[in-house]
Amino acid sequence: MCGIFGYAGRDNAAERIINGLKRLEYRGYDSWGVAIADLDSEQINLVKHTGKIGEVSSEKLFDTTSTIGIGHTRWATHGGVTDTNAHPHYSTDKSFVLAQNGIVENYQELKSELISKGYEFISQTDTEVIVRLVEEELKTAQDLHEAVRQAFLKLTGRNTIIVLEKKNSHIIAVRNGSPLVIGIGNEEIIIASDTLSFADRTNKVILVENYQMVEYKNGETKLFDVKENAELKTEIIELDQADTKVEKEGFDHFMIKEIVEQRYTINEAVQYTLDELNPLLGRIKEKSSKGGQGKVYTVGAGTAGFAAMQIAFFLRKHANVNATELKAYEMESYKNLFTPEDTLIAVSQSGETADTIEAIEFAKEKGTKIASIVNMLGSTITRISDYKYFSRSGAEICVASTKAFTAQTAWGLLLALSLIGKYEEAKKVVKDLSQNLESFFEGNDFSNIKNLAKKLKDQEHFFVLGKGQNFVASLEGALKIKEITYKHFEGFAAGELKHGVIALIDQGTPVFGIISNDENKADMLSALAEVKARGGFTIGVAKENNELFDFFIETIEGHEADSIANIIPFQLISYFMALQLGNSPDKPRNLAKSVTVK
Ligand code: GLU
Repeated sequence: MCGIFGYAGRDNAAERIINGLKRLEYRGYDSWGVAIADLDSEQINLVKHTGKIGEVSSEKLFDTTSTIGIGHTRWATHGGVTDTNAHPHYSTDKSFVLAQNGIVENYQELKSELISKGYEFISQTDTEVIVRLVEEELKTAQDLHEAVRQAFLKLTGRNTIIVLEKKNSHIIAVRNGSPLVIGIGNEEIIIASDTLSFADRTNKVILVENYQMVEYKNGETKLFDVKENAELKTEIIELDQADTKVEKEGFDHFMIKEIVEQRYTINEAVQYTLDELNPLLGRIKEKSSKGGQGKVYTVGAGTAGFAAMQIAFFLRKHANVNATELKAYEMESYKNLFTPEDTLIAVSQSGETADTIEAIEFAKEKGTKIASIVNMLGSTITRISDYKYFSRSGAEICVASTKAFTAQTAWGLLLALSLIGKYEEAKKVVKDLSQNLESFFEGNDFSNIKNLAKKLKDQEHFFVLGKGQNFVASLEGALKIKEITYKHFEGFAAGELKHGVIALIDQGTPVFGIISNDENKADMLSALAEVKARGGFTIGVAKENNELFDFFIETIEGHEADSIANIIPFQLISYFMALQLGNSPDKPRNLAKSVTVK
């Protein structure tokens, strides 16, 4: 969601920024802007537009070049999607421009104060309040650094800002909440929302923490503590990101590339040695098994929230751990329950999910220890965790998560089985699934799934039933399809059917049943029989066909990881149905990849 990319170096800044913004595109945005400090004129040149960046070139944007500038992709929160509301925003005298990620929660109070002081507002954004506030501070502050610092301290909410001033070839960026990292390249620096945006230039980074300010001035980069106004030492770390490529590699879309990559990404996620797992295993054993009073919570939102649910399921089912899944945005009634004995396992693809970060903060305040499984190295959640694990799926670009979900749940299975001394077995289960997936994808033209997608694409309401290990698969499977097809898909526990859902079954209503060869098979078949008896169109997602199925999708065997295997047909249905409906699978409407605002 929304991105910042600042560049200072020797190259054409506009070109670098456009490239950087494109690498941030996957996060989701509705408008964009680029500003460069034209060294030959007195002003900053600014271009901003709604829609996608597309194939624009720096020459088309500007009739001048510069080696310093900033860019922004906006995901509108305050004010419509218009050119005027797009960032960056000029100061009144055009001596600086500013772009923001986040929400200024006190913008209404600040705005009325500024209006009473005579400031005029051009856009409807909360961002412009920061611009005018910096102008107001400049009246008394000794320089822009101080004015930005003072203005920033008056903002509430999670905000990260970047400012470009023409004088002194000057960029200032301040972070609180929304992510910010510095890339140190060869005679160039990049200040951006994630490391992926500049992974084609450098793997050397400085991580910026909340309430820290980065200042690039006259060729030098410094880091400051905003509250103390003190300069900080910087530490350059070298990231070893296995897959920093942001390319489709011959596939039509990132989504299908990422679905197919699962044949090895699930296995990567469990490549932890026992030594690496032991600190967390030890904590859970000591505090939450063997009579310990500590609870284990898992937390996330959206698809990561479902991964968190599945991890909690594995912990309960296999390891007898009293694990409870929480939704990151529904913490109110749990806040007071956290104790120092508890462990919270946070799940996030980006590691920047605002809701999840807030949930972690609540738990940390009570002394609860935090473990996390995230996909992005160097992200905020990993930095605030006591036990950090990576799902190692490589860059996930498609907004709808596929490989990060299966990797994170595979890691959860490893955790649960390792707790009962079945570390080797867990690795074997995932490896076998990985090999089965390899043969499944080999030469597969997906004709069966394409046929189903074609058959169903004009229907509006669909239901997915699961039980036991497949309950979460029914929720995540339905979410995947609604994200991309914009159709009403609802996942349910099969047990709910008789308690209400069955009222919705009409002639031809499509109902999927996810069936493993486990203790719930008979119940699942009965549920589908009840659906069929009321005229519903049954689709069995199972190992073998059954006369109760009007349509059959064969899934591969996953044993204890069967719920992970069973999600794959839904990812494929989602993709092929979206194509038939003419939707963009990689960038579904209204959604953003990295949900960095609440
Ligand atoms: N709140 C700002 C706006 O609506 C920034 C949104 C963003 O983070 O892109 O313009």
